[in-house]
Amino acid sequence: AIPESSVIWFDGALVPWHEARVHVLSHALHYGTGVLEGTRVFATADGPAVFRLPEHLARLDRSARMLRMELPYSAEELAAATVALVAANGHRECYLRHLAFLGYGSMGLDMRHSPTSVSIASWEWPAYLPEGRGLRLMTSSWRRTDPNSVPPAAKATGPYLNSALARREATDSGFDEALLLAPDGTVSECSSENVFTVRDGVLRTTPASAGALEGITQDTLLTLARDLGAEVRIEPLLRSDLYAADEVFISGTAAGVVPVGSLDNRELPSHEGELTKQLAQAYRAAVHGEDARYRHWLTPVHRS
Ligand code: PMP
Repeated sequence: AIPESSVIWFDGALVPWHEARVHVLSHALHYGTGVLEGTRVFATADGPAVFRLPEHLARLDRSARMLRMELPYSAEELAAATVALVAANGHRECYLRHLAFLGYGSMGLDMRHSPTSVSIASWEWPAYLPEGRGLRLMTSSWRRTDPNSVPPAAKATGPYLNSALARREATDSGFDEALLLAPDGTVSECSSENVFTVRDGVLRTTPASAGALEGITQDTLLTLARDLGAEVRIEPLLRSDLYAADEVFISGTAAGVVPVGSLDNRELPSHEGELTKQLAQAYRAAVHGEDARYRHWLTPVHRS
């Protein structure tokens, strides 16, 4: 169950949680015509702060453009709405879900006659993947969508069916999470996280051209790793590169930085490697505003 908050921002107003409703003939419900963002608010010494909000809103806008949807609100308006929502719900920390979708207006695939609605919901949601042990990954039998079928670069609702199928297959088979391969057989990413390897001290992660989402946590970790003096490469990986790695971890806003213990039942040398540990620590410090070098990533929420 989702821990309820008191209000949801819906098309310009704060409405009670259970009143943020849509019609069953909403276009997005039938055809997956929506774009979304998952963002986190963390506690800092100066109160709650949204982590990398402009970057999340910029990605929402890029996703909308790829679907040829027009967002009825500017990034500035959405940022103000986000901060107002977190303040109204009185969160210290929370997860935020921005959603823009085609609503009720006409049926049929033509997107031009349905209005675009925007909602922002917040709730308290601790990292949802198992912690304190290495994650058990499996290579999915489902491939990431071909960029010329449905662009994986768009964080859109419909394409999550691909992720949901892979995640379900993994959990049905007793694993924690699925690793998806791109149509060319190279590693793409997990159902909702980017993937990293460490071998001989070199950090690697897969590029957007492999069908990986341009993860904001991925970008954050690449910056943190460079600042730690690590060698960093964004390049295609094979599943055997993961089997042969010293360390593997996955990253995402919801999950955080999660060490991988095994892939396809091949155990990694350690259930939490040294660089993984350092990066997880640096990430924790950055999101909580404990490292002055990264405070520009935080948008403060001044509670009323
Ligand atoms: N890949 C996919 C498919 C995702 O859904 C997510 C979560 N948004 C990520 C990667 C990680 O992205 P981020 O770090 O921006 O949350």
